[in-house]
Amino acid sequence: MAIPKTEFIWHNGKTIAWDDAKIHVLSHVVNYGSSLFEGIRCYQQPGGPAIFRLREHMQRLLNSAKIYRIEVPFSVDELCNAAVELVGLNKVSPCYMRPIVLRGYGELGVNPIGCPTEVYIANYAWGKYLGHGDPDDGVDVCVSSWTRFAPNTLPALAKAGANYMNSQLIKMEAILNGYSEGIALDANGYVSEGSGENLFVVNNGKIITPPLGNSVLPGITRDSVLQIAETLGIPLVEQIVPREMLYIADEVFFSGTAAEITPIRSVDKIQVGSGKIGDVTRSIRDAFFGIVHGKAEDRFGWLTPVKQAVGA
Ligand code: PMP
Repeated sequence: MAIPKTEFIWHNGKTIAWDDAKIHVLSHVVNYGSSLFEGIRCYQQPGGPAIFRLREHMQRLLNSAKIYRIEVPFSVDELCNAAVELVGLNKVSPCYMRPIVLRGYGELGVNPIGCPTEVYIANYAWGKYLGHGDPDDGVDVCVSSWTRFAPNTLPALAKAGANYMNSQLIKMEAILNGYSEGIALDANGYVSEGSGENLFVVNNGKIITPPLGNSVLPGITRDSVLQIAETLGIPLVEQIVPREMLYIADEVFFSGTAAEITPIRSVDKIQVGSGKIGDVTRSIRDAFFGIVHGKAEDRFGWLTPVKQAVGA
C-alpha cells in the first residue's frame, strides 16, 4: 500500500512540505545504509491522540546514533516536542511516526564523518501489520533460513536502516513461502527475533524471551510486555530459547510497534498449543490494548497526549 501522504514533515527543526522532503541520490545513506530510525504509534484515545512511549523511542534513536558516532543536534525533549507538534499539524490520528537520522550529501567515501546529519520526522495513517483475520487466530510463521547478524558484525541494539537488509531477506522468504513472518536464529542457532518483532514463548504459565545478547533489538513493546507481566504477576525470564522450544511451547507471541501483541498459531507448520490465542498472551494483549486505547488507566505513564483536535 502506498504511504498516505500528509501535509508536513519535520526536518532539522523546521516543518517542510511532504513533497520537499527529498535527498540526493549520492547521499551517504543511499549508498551505505547509514541511517538510524524509529517507528512509533500514536493512538486515538477518547480524549484525542496519544503517542506511545515517545520518550523511550526518541532516546533509542539517540542511542542508535551514538553507537554510530553521530551527534544529533537535538535533545530528547526537542525531538519529543517536534513529534507532538507534527501530529497536531498533520491532523492524522491514529498514525504511525517515523523519525530518521541519516548521513546526508557531502562525501562519498565509506568514512561518513564529512557528511552532514539530517533529522526527519514523518507521520501518516497506518493500520494493522500482522494478521488480518480474527486477531485471536494468530499468524503462521517459519524459522528463517537467514541468520540474524552476529555480534561484532552489526550492533543489534542500534535500530539502523542497514539492519533491515537482513530483515528484508527474512520477510521476503517467509511471504514467498506462504507465511506471515519469519523468525531468525542468532549466529549460535538460538532463537533471536522476527524480522520486525521481538518474540516470547509461554510454558506452564511462565514467559520466556531471548536476552539482548541473542542479537535482538531492545524493543519498546518488549519492555512494555516485561512491565505488564510483572504487574499481572506472570513470571517472565530473559533466557536463551532453543529453536525446538517454539514447537512445544504452550503459546508463542510477537511484540512490536507494528505487530503490537500478535499471537503465533504455528511455527514451520507445527501447531502451537491449541492453535488459538492462549490465556497468557490474551492477558498481556488485553492489558496492552486497554492502556493504548485509553480504556484502562495509563498506570506506567506511557502515553504523551497531543492536545490539538485531530480529524476535524
Ligand atoms: N525487532 C526488530 C528487528 C524490529 O524492527 C522491531 C520494531 N522496531 C522490534 C524488534 C520491536 O521493537 P519495538 O517494540 O520497539 O517496536
